[in-house]
Amino acid sequence: ATPMSIMTATGRGAQAGVLIKNAEALERFEKVDTLIVDKTGTLTMGKPQLVAVLPERGHDEAEVLRLAASLERGSEHPLAEAIVRGAEERSVKMANADDFEAVTGKGVKGVVDGKAVALGNLAMIRELGLEAGDLTAKANARRDEGETVMFVVLDGEIAGLVAVADPVKETTPAAIENLHELGFRVIMATGDNERTAKAIGARLGIDEIRADVLPEDKARIIKELQAEGRKVAMAGDGVNDAPALAQADVGIAMGTGADVAIESAGITLVKGNLDGIVRARRLARATMRNIR
Ligand code: ADP
Ligand code: MG
Repeated sequence: ATPMSIMTATGRGAQAGVLIKNAEALERFEKVDTLIVDKTGTLTMGKPQLVAVLPERGHDEAEVLRLAASLERGSEHPLAEAIVRGAEERSVKMANADDFEAVTGKGVKGVVDGKAVALGNLAMIRELGLEAGDLTAKANARRDEGETVMFVVLDGEIAGLVAVADPVKETTPAAIENLHELGFRVIMATGDNERTAKAIGARLGIDEIRADVLPEDKARIIKELQAEGRKVAMAGDGVNDAPALAQADVGIAMGTGADVAIESAGITLVKGNLDGIVRARRLARATMRNIR
């Protein structure tokens, strides 16, 4: 291999905001046939907005939001930020939460005003011994619009639903189209609900969707694909994505994401847009063609 051509490629990449760690990352990336992308913060802006608070009978909308937001103040998850911002915008006064606990891939728990409060997805309420029951239809209608629905639990009962919407990045649709043209199979892996994931995936023409995925599952999915002989790149932004980025043949971090994700990756997209992957692939191809 001529070191010069690799330096040229990494230099060109850097100019375009595509940071390639070393020659190995570039060589491996040329062989990748499968690209796994995280949804939140990778396909989407990662800036969800609170769009609805749906209290259950006997519960008050503002109070459900207040409990949810008071708890989410302790979390750094983008969904938490959406709920806290939503409460602020609606001038809801938050309280301090005690015994705060973040449950990875599920949600948050704690005590607000002496009451046990929890907030999260279906896995979260199941962990608390609850079921969605009649609320499923209401939740599904929102999910079919691509929204993420969370359950608010108060003293062991579901007090309401909170829905947030995270718009797809402007650059994503064209990037997916180009990635397909370059021959990648594109798989979405997300901790989000299957209906929400499918609604967004269908709009983007994603080839395959793995939803309700826990962070440790992302790495396992990659291992399975590798065992089938696939060469896998994984693009993600979160702390949760770090194990998967490390397991992948090439990890691709969003420069806008967590530091630990960037450290685990062979390629970093400074602007956090997937079109950087298109560029990285073209550079990898051109370089390897020169070398052979
Ligand atoms: P992803 O980044 O792919 O959406 P995460 O593992 O970050 O995956 O989150 C998975 C799911 O867990 C979320 O979609 C949400 O339902 C739930 N969740 C995680 N953290 C929180 C939180 N702070 N508040 C509410 N729900 C949460
Ligand atoms: Mg994420």
